[in-house]
Amino acid sequence: LAELERSGETLDAWLGRAGYSALFRDAYLLPQAAAIWSCTLEQMRDYPAAAFVRFYMNHNLLAYDLRPTWRTVDGGAKQYISHLTRPLQGRVVTGARIDSVGRGPVGPFLRMADGSMQDYDAVVLATHSDQALRLLDQPTDQERALLGAIAYRPNRAVLHRDVALMPRRRKAWAAWTHMGRSDRAGEGGVTYWMNELQSLPGEPLFVSLNPAREPDPALVLGEWDYEHPVFDQAAVAAQDHLWSLQGVGGVWFAGAWFGSGFHEDGLQAGLAVAEQLGGARRPWTVANESGRIRLGAADLARAA
Ligand SMILES: Cc1cc2nc3c(=O)[nH]c(=O)nc-3n(C[C@H](O)[C@H](O)[C@H](O)COP(=O)(O)OP(=O)(O)OC[C@H]3O[C@@H](n4cnc5c(N)ncnc54)[C@H](O)[C@@H]3O)c2cc1C
Repeated sequence: LAELERSGETLDAWLGRAGYSALFRDAYLLPQAAAIWSCTLEQMRDYPAAAFVRFYMNHNLLAYDLRPTWRTVDGGAKQYISHLTRPLQGRVVTGARIDSVGRGPVGPFLRMADGSMQDYDAVVLATHSDQALRLLDQPTDQERALLGAIAYRPNRAVLHRDVALMPRRRKAWAAWTHMGRSDRAGEGGVTYWMNELQSLPGEPLFVSLNPAREPDPALVLGEWDYEHPVFDQAAVAAQDHLWSLQGVGGVWFAGAWFGSGFHEDGLQAGLAVAEQLGGARRPWTVANESGRIRLGAADLARAA
């Protein structure tokens, strides 16, 4: 891993140099990784090898027979959201569109979509990196460089019941299935089998991300456009310095783009910001509590 950190090479370059076969790369590793990061195989090839290996090590993905036991929240994320927000009833405003964030002589302020202005002691932009950059009235050069280095790309999710996007052999159905075409290397998308993932009874229900072939329109229940961060080498290099942006003129940043783009990354970034901002501590202890994101050395000392 240390060698990969030093060389900074891409996943594709490393797989080639280390002698992995094209079949292992194209039919196993890249589809698996592309499904995890919700991106194309081509984009996965450009992923920095060191960040890839670190992620696979942290998630026990290098050991074929050591699958982690996943734990889920009964009733889904809305259960803990309502639990967390209950004590804040009446003090939290949701669904308010913000046009921009400025920094005045006494602190930051928000310009709302309805034209009103609101002053605050601090502002935490828990948006995507590109949205945060667009929201800032007068971004600093460092904000432009670091936030601008972590781009987002669109991803289309289709909810449907079309079994044609799953393997013909029912025995081969899995919670995540990659479908690609051998004549179009690099393309393809993942289909989530929602009945399996969320213990849903009844007819088959799938979510396909950027489907390689369109599901039968008669079996489509809905579709949505999402965005995912692109973790190329520039983005991963920028992450090393992201924490230096915190608190400048009372503006802070959090989001899954501080880590690998998953819920846990957003949670760790949000907790670290809240603790540094408010001096409070999370009411639990886990080893390496900010291990998925990179805090600057100065900030770590401040948080201690
Ligand atoms: C199809 C799909 C499957 C996924 N599967 C998984 C998975 O299995 N496991 C996992 O860990 N992660 C998964 N993810 C990723 C996960 O959803 C993200 O990591 C997480 O939601 C990102 O959190 P975030 O807080 O960084 O950003 P978001 O949740 O996107 O929050 C950003 C917020 O900023 C708000 N905002 C933006 N601009 C403004 C504005 N101008 N004014 C006011 N508000 C604004 C938005 O409304 C939004 O609420 C998946 C994502 C997708 C799309």
